[in-house]
Amino acid sequence: MLTFLKVLWRNLLQGPSTDPFPFGETHTPKRLRGKVRVDSKACAGCSMCINVCAGGAIRQVEREDGSGKDFYVWHNTCTFCGLCERFCPTGAIKLSNDWSTAHLNSEKFTFREHEFITYDKCEKCSTRMPRVPLAMLKKIYGEPTEDIMKLYRLCPECRRQRAARQLGA
Ligand code: SF4
Ligand code: SF4
Repeated sequence: MLTFLKVLWRNLLQGPSTDPFPFGETHTPKRLRGKVRVDSKACAGCSMCINVCAGGAIRQVEREDGSGKDFYVWHNTCTFCGLCERFCPTGAIKLSNDWSTAHLNSEKFTFREHEFITYDKCEKCSTRMPRVPLAMLKKIYGEPTEDIMKLYRLCPECRRQRAARQLGA
């Protein structure tokens, strides 16, 4: 009886030891693989994540006006394998530790991450072109020279013409 009272007294002092969720915060490990997030500014639109996606959860759709593309990740199709994060060359796609995937059945086609990847305009002819993030350029060239930066702002066709002029063609 005395032991029981001791346990009871201790528990009354310490309060509940069970997880308070959903009425309070719960503990989420930092490395838990949760919902995928996309940083549209860092994305180069290379489609590598689509090619490696185990769940077929990623889709990119070009806009007809050429301004860029819509980037979708369906949370209820994602298997949280982490391959997209592993192979993304720019670090634009990452798994967060947000594990909350409960949603209404009526939301099953809209329960997704949606970002818009803007295309840059060629400095010379204004043609729209997929943007290479500066971080990726620095990864390849270190600190890019002025000449590389000039090429960076041109579309592939203007780059070709520039190279041909330099060669005297
Ligand atoms: S975590 Fe895996 S399944 Fe989910 S979007 Fe990335 S590659 Fe696809
Ligand atoms: S998120 Fe990464 S892998 Fe996917 S298209 Fe963008 S840059 Fe390429």
